[in-house]
Amino acid sequence: MTTTNKNVLLHACCAVCSGYPIELLREMGYNPVIYFFNPNIFPSEEYERRLNELIRYTKKKNVELIIDKKDSEDWYNCVIGLENEPEGGKRCARCFEYRLLFSALKALQLEYQYFTTTLTISPHKNSKLIFDIAQEIAAKYELTFLDIDFKKKDGFLKTMKIAKEENFYRQNYCGCEFSINRN
Ligand code: SF4
Repeated sequence: MTTTNKNVLLHACCAVCSGYPIELLREMGYNPVIYFFNPNIFPSEEYERRLNELIRYTKKKNVELIIDKKDSEDWYNCVIGLENEPEGGKRCARCFEYRLLFSALKALQLEYQYFTTTLTISPHKNSKLIFDIAQEIAAKYELTFLDIDFKKKDGFLKTMKIAKEENFYRQNYCGCEFSINRN
């Protein structure tokens, strides 16, 4: 695919993780379009809470937001047998792959060349693993994955500062039911 526009599909899990990546991508000359696709988030009240914060923030920042709500059953099937894995283990690798694959497919559908994810802003997440998974998917679909480690250069501190200023709801677990009380 060839395209001259600088739209980037930015997969995002919540408003907290999106603040700094939106700013950085804009500074880099890209137009981030947020893609909220997170069937891993449990329970549904938590899903709605994270999404509503993102709706509020993207409106304020004039960022386009695309929401794909999939049945979580498919996600559960994807991680079946890995429920007791520690955070950062095999279940998370599958979860990254699942969400990044759908992000790539959405980028293809929209005819965007670029996609990336806010997942790398978390100090709990292995950016190298995320990059390896995403690059494999990108190569398969002839897309470009922007391998930006958002936590670097004080990125995590910067996004937390934005979260505080914006008074975002801040969750205390990653997202799936298996990560509750495990951080
Ligand atoms: S802990 Fe987070 S990354 Fe790992 S499987 Fe659960 S939601 Fe996905």
